[in-house]
Amino acid sequence: DSFDAMGLHENLLRGIYAYGFEKPSAIQQRGIVPFCKGLDVIQQAQSGTGKTATFCSGILQQLDYNVVECQALVLAPTRELAQQIEKVMRALGDYLGVKVHACFGGTSVREDQRILSSGVHVVVATPGRVFDMLRRQSLRPDYIKMFVLDEADEMLSKGFKDQIYDIFQLLPPKIQVGVFSATMPPEALEITRKFMNKPVRILV
Ligand code: AMP
Repeated sequence: DSFDAMGLHENLLRGIYAYGFEKPSAIQQRGIVPFCKGLDVIQQAQSGTGKTATFCSGILQQLDYNVVECQALVLAPTRELAQQIEKVMRALGDYLGVKVHACFGGTSVREDQRILSSGVHVVVATPGRVFDMLRRQSLRPDYIKMFVLDEADEMLSKGFKDQIYDIFQLLPPKIQVGVFSATMPPEALEITRKFMNKPVRILV
């Protein structure tokens, strides 16, 4: 039960320890390795369990840092959560040189476009703004290979279902999907059935 035993890149481990984590939480113990193997994962976990570092580590482990294109997209229900995830991703990936951008409504579209065109590895976003960026082709989906829905139940209850479906249609067909949700209402199960491939289910 240590981060060392997970086969993570040395520079990712450095980031994890520098952030102050010593031992993986329960969800991290069960969730990081399957995510790093590229499997689709459904993790039913409340916030406060360490889910953010679970998918951030899984993403950071699998990025190709020589390719400065968006390879991972994380959706969150609010701008506050998107910013928080961006911060954790940046901190854990500090020694890997990860480039992360958070995209959400209420900010300048031009500024988002400028940052995206300058090159990023990971985009963390609320559904509306990132759909806009994809539709304007300011965010090119071609290199995206990981897609995470954080607080999926919250996003669905906020009415983001259609936008999430629209985003799925614009992404490459065979991407890894991670769904994190405290509860699994029918609409969340529908997403897992429609868009996931033999998902591993983890309940903590
Ligand atoms: P989260 O569930 O991702 O919102 O994380 C909840 C809180 O737990 C955050 O403040 C994290 O910084 C903290 N946390 C996550 N993983 C660990 C860990 N392995 N060791 C200590 N604290 C952690």
